[in-house]
Amino acid sequence: MNLTNLKLRDFRNYESLDLDFDPGVNLIVGNNAQGKTNLIEAIAYAGSGKSFRALKQSEMVRFGADFADLEAQVCAQERCQSLRWVIFNGSRPRQIFRNGVKKKSAGELLGVLPTVLFCPEDLMVLKAGAAQRRRLGDHALCQLRPNYDAALTEYNRILDQKNRILKDHFEHPNVLAILPEYNTRLCQVGALLISYRARFYDSLGRSAAKFHGQFSGGAEEFALQYKTVSTVSDPFAPVAKLTEDLLDHLERHYRAELESGQCLTGPHKDDFDVSLSGINLKSYGSQGQTRTAAISLKLAQRELMGREWGEEPVLLLDDVLSELDQGRQDFVLNQIVSGQVFITCCEPGRFTKLGKTIEICKGRVLE
Ligand code: ATP
Ligand code: MG
Repeated sequence: MNLTNLKLRDFRNYESLDLDFDPGVNLIVGNNAQGKTNLIEAIAYAGSGKSFRALKQSEMVRFGADFADLEAQVCAQERCQSLRWVIFNGSRPRQIFRNGVKKKSAGELLGVLPTVLFCPEDLMVLKAGAAQRRRLGDHALCQLRPNYDAALTEYNRILDQKNRILKDHFEHPNVLAILPEYNTRLCQVGALLISYRARFYDSLGRSAAKFHGQFSGGAEEFALQYKTVSTVSDPFAPVAKLTEDLLDHLERHYRAELESGQCLTGPHKDDFDVSLSGINLKSYGSQGQTRTAAISLKLAQRELMGREWGEEPVLLLDDVLSELDQGRQDFVLNQIVSGQVFITCCEPGRFTKLGKTIEICKGRVLE
């Protein structure tokens, strides 16, 4: 599929934008702080309803405006569709439209414009904290599986409530009466997350190993291992078994959770490890190895999503190419033989010949 047109009104530093895109490579150039990443964010948001940088939706509304309006035209094979999001400045819920028809949830737009974002922080994701790796996995899985997205939202909500109970029980011991109910639901939903993640990371690891093998000429053997709660011996086990494992784990930590006043264990601490020929990257990987492995993971994510929908997702490379040496740049570019790509950079340099160049200055496109 490809994004043919994007209209923005009062989104970040864009007062008004109406822009057509190339089905291949779109190069977004401009000096710092002109709106390149804002444009990438708008594209990613239009497809997923999630921002990779805003903590609150109101951040995306242009300073001083009441609401932001984004509309994306997406064409796949013979069919063109429009996705529209209206985001308000206060707490008013956003409005979502598909082909002009109002929709209740973002899930109803999923799969129309899937995107894979690749930014400089991702290059070091395998050295970073577990939260950054979880975000990478969750971002992909939420786009792939609407039910996963819903489960994750529910899990986080129950987790918040449980944390509140654990904090309050010192002053109000009777709140503990409802704790078992929360624990049961937390484990049921948590088990679902583990089940999805086990399958996703398995496929992601296999695909990434293939890309990594191509880059390293088969010299290094890439392996990804999903890590979850210690009582889970087989993350591929049926959800009912996983629920039992999680409950068992919670029981063992019951005292510790009460004493610390917070929820200590569960899939919200999940992580994954990558090793090259048996050597753990997080502890021993060189910069170059870590970057190549991260590139392999991103290309794998793109491949999995492409396999799911029969068409490549849109690839968003925000400032990442200029961070790479020539060999790695070529590796990435050579993999993008089909599909639509958006590349931002300050210095167009050798990329200009790739496709359409869009020059951004102060939230406007220079003609
Ligand atoms: P760089 O090359 O440094 O990455 P960029 O072109 O990617 O720069 P953006 O991150 O897109 O720059 O940000 C451009 C500008 O948008 C910033 O100066 C920021 O102050 C502004 N901006 C961000 N949010 C809003 C908002 N809600 N309203 C108005 N302006 C905003
Ligand atoms: Mg930027």
